[in-house]
Amino acid sequence: MPFTAKLNAEIERRRDDLIALTQDLIRIPTLNPPGQKYREICTFLGERLAKSGFTIELIRAEGAIADSDEFPRWNLVARHEGPRKGDCVHFNSHHDVVEVGHGWTRDPFGGELDDGKIYGRGACDMKGGLATSIIAAEAFLAICPDYAGAIEISATADEESGGYGGVAYLAEKCYFNPVRVQHVIIPEPLNKDRICLGHRGVWWAEIETKGRIAHGSMPFLGDCAVRHMGAVLEEMEANLFPLLASKRTDMPVVPDGAKQSTLNINSIHGGAAEQPAEYTGLPAPCVPDRCRIIIDRRFLIEEEIDDVKAEVAAMLEKIKSERPDFEYEIRDLFEVIPTMTAEDAPIVTTVAKAIKQVMDINPEFVVSPGTYDQKHIDRIGRLKNCIAYGPGVLDLAHQPDEWIGVQDMIDSANVMALTLVDLLKPS
Ligand SMILES: [Zn+2]
Repeated sequence: MPFTAKLNAEIERRRDDLIALTQDLIRIPTLNPPGQKYREICTFLGERLAKSGFTIELIRAEGAIADSDEFPRWNLVARHEGPRKGDCVHFNSHHDVVEVGHGWTRDPFGGELDDGKIYGRGACDMKGGLATSIIAAEAFLAICPDYAGAIEISATADEESGGYGGVAYLAEKCYFNPVRVQHVIIPEPLNKDRICLGHRGVWWAEIETKGRIAHGSMPFLGDCAVRHMGAVLEEMEANLFPLLASKRTDMPVVPDGAKQSTLNINSIHGGAAEQPAEYTGLPAPCVPDRCRIIIDRRFLIEEEIDDVKAEVAAMLEKIKSERPDFEYEIRDLFEVIPTMTAEDAPIVTTVAKAIKQVMDINPEFVVSPGTYDQKHIDRIGRLKNCIAYGPGVLDLAHQPDEWIGVQDMIDSANVMALTLVDLLKPS
């Protein structure tokens, strides 16, 4: 029997194990924020992978953003060394999940199996993908013990809040150095027949307009910061948004609306702070002396971040030159450079071939509208041969009644195991 058929049977034999593993992971509520149960999930995974012959390292991202004694940022790196020298294939999954939110009809941490779907927070993003990569690696090792190279599986913290206590920390400690690791698959839920090559860039900034406080009955004695911000919003509507819509990209970003530059206004705050909901008094009459917005600009591989910033700076300067008493400040909050792996990179062509073999379709190459941990592997690790590939429907991520399909996980496990066969040359 060729490897393909043997692996297929081996993965099928592990179907119940795959379901149970996914359920077990969902039942550890690794909510972020605050970043809880990280040690518990890393220990659980470490014990399992040690039994499969992996060498285990538990690494706390000491000193990283959000790491504290109450909520330490724990990460797991497991490595299995083959008997012969060769490339290392690394599967990286984040183990944190976002808040539950409203609207659930299932227990968010129950891991309920119903009609071929496993429900729970993190089922699709991305404990299902993590379980899939483990089953794929274990099935490969059972069938192909004599292989060249190494397999690594990591479960990392804080992807949902920037990845600084997770992949960024590990990359700084050289865990994604191209000398150690040659191929990286991040099993994010991008659909089992799509390969995600990278993501757009991000720039967050806070813009503040300034005014002068006065009694609300005599606004002419003050200077209204909210009206100044109104001028900023007007300028955005008139000129900036149309300009951004005209900037199209050659990156295969999905969904289609994200194939251009975009800007979201995350929030706006001006004047007196809002009182708690239980406060029943009226507000005091004051002219607002401060107004702030947070902007979230997503940019394309064809754009430079300095130009992106200069565009907003020029807009504010234009308003200042036209509008009396317009004073503002702008502060950078966060930035990520776009990244995109080449379509002819070895990990891309290998996974594409495996998808064709398993599902008899040519995979779609996509780019994510938002970012994920690939940014750190690229920028800090300097490792370019990286993709996101995993089971699950992207639109379900962060939604109520999030689920992962068992058959999708099985199909993806076959793709991952065949990828290992191709890259690790078993004999
Ligand atoms: Zn995710």
